[in-house]
Amino acid sequence: MLPAPRFTAFNPPRRILMGPGPSDVYPEVLAAQARPTVGHLDPLFVGMMDELKSLIQYAFQTKNEMTMAVSAPGSAGMETCFVNLVEPGEKVIVCRNGVFGERMRQNVERMGAIAVLVDNEWGTPVDPAAVEAALKANPDAKFLAFVHAETSTGALSDAKTLCALAKQHGCLSIVDAVTSLGGVELRVDEWGIDAIYSGSQKCLSCVPGLSPVSFSPAAVEKLKNRKTPVQSWFLDQSLVMAYWTSAGGKRSYHHTAPVNALYALHESLRMLAAEGLENAWQRHHDMHLVLRVGLEKLGLNFVVAEASRLPQLNAVYIPAGVDDAAVRTRLLKDYNLEIGAGLGALAGKAWRIGLMGFGARRENVALCLKALEEVLN
Ligand SMILES: *Cc1c(COP(=O)(O)O)cnc(C)c1O
Repeated sequence: MLPAPRFTAFNPPRRILMGPGPSDVYPEVLAAQARPTVGHLDPLFVGMMDELKSLIQYAFQTKNEMTMAVSAPGSAGMETCFVNLVEPGEKVIVCRNGVFGERMRQNVERMGAIAVLVDNEWGTPVDPAAVEAALKANPDAKFLAFVHAETSTGALSDAKTLCALAKQHGCLSIVDAVTSLGGVELRVDEWGIDAIYSGSQKCLSCVPGLSPVSFSPAAVEKLKNRKTPVQSWFLDQSLVMAYWTSAGGKRSYHHTAPVNALYALHESLRMLAAEGLENAWQRHHDMHLVLRVGLEKLGLNFVVAEASRLPQLNAVYIPAGVDDAAVRTRLLKDYNLEIGAGLGALAGKAWRIGLMGFGARRENVALCLKALEEVLN
């Protein structure tokens, strides 16, 4: 017999997470996750799931029946939207202004569909005029896909206008709201968003690993009328909804729900509802303004122009002559503070300072500014 390996329990320090995610988790959420595991078809758990669905509907501002949390991170939410709606050979207009728009292209092409690209410079929002031109040039397009809050650059796109354009041209909209949900204004029904996905670990300040998604009645219709089965068995919404729908009170097993992680999501969304969505948006905005003043005093310049800056993701250029990795290492070692490195085209050129959910607080802003000041000097 092999000897039993000996390890010590993993006890991480309490970091202050001010990067692009995961964000600081609410202590209440961590406590909720530690509660006793019950069966995933236990009547008490099912009751919690009904509430969870209403809470997700509230956060998205939607009445969509097909609303649930995918048992996997935001990337799986992205794949859920594309794999359920897009069929091989169909045309999707994909807007790229950062890393996540490029991932949308990869999703589309992997499912044998055609991506028509609308490229905008990194750090700028998606340009509605360019989208309109692409919609006009491609009357056979079935979808418009874009990222509401581009976490790789900190740019906010005008989801309301883009979704209205999609509708005018007979396209369904697919929207990435991983970083926007809970941090900036987002109104799924009012803006006519057809398929949307988010993540638990950004402005919801929940543990990573879950992806709230929602499909409009028009998107559900598209799914029902598919000529080909959804390639992914696990992500097939028509199967998953048998577990998430309480219609008739009967839920059937699809996969074992991540029971404790769903307690955590329930708690984080309950806290968001208790604060009020508009108040949460305002808090992110207010904390961003405080951070902005401090960063500018330190001589740091924003990547994104003021009009389309995300409050929850502040990308600033690294000053000339400053060692990117050395600064981030010192912040982590000496201050227990994590900020984000640049991603893709901004790797080595920018830092990404997150003010997400529980992280968007005055004490975090003050610590971050003080630590940056000391390290940069
Ligand atoms: C973080 C993020 C994702 C991916 O989410 P994961 O939970 O890391 O899989 C997708 N889109 C955007 C805009 C993100 O910020």
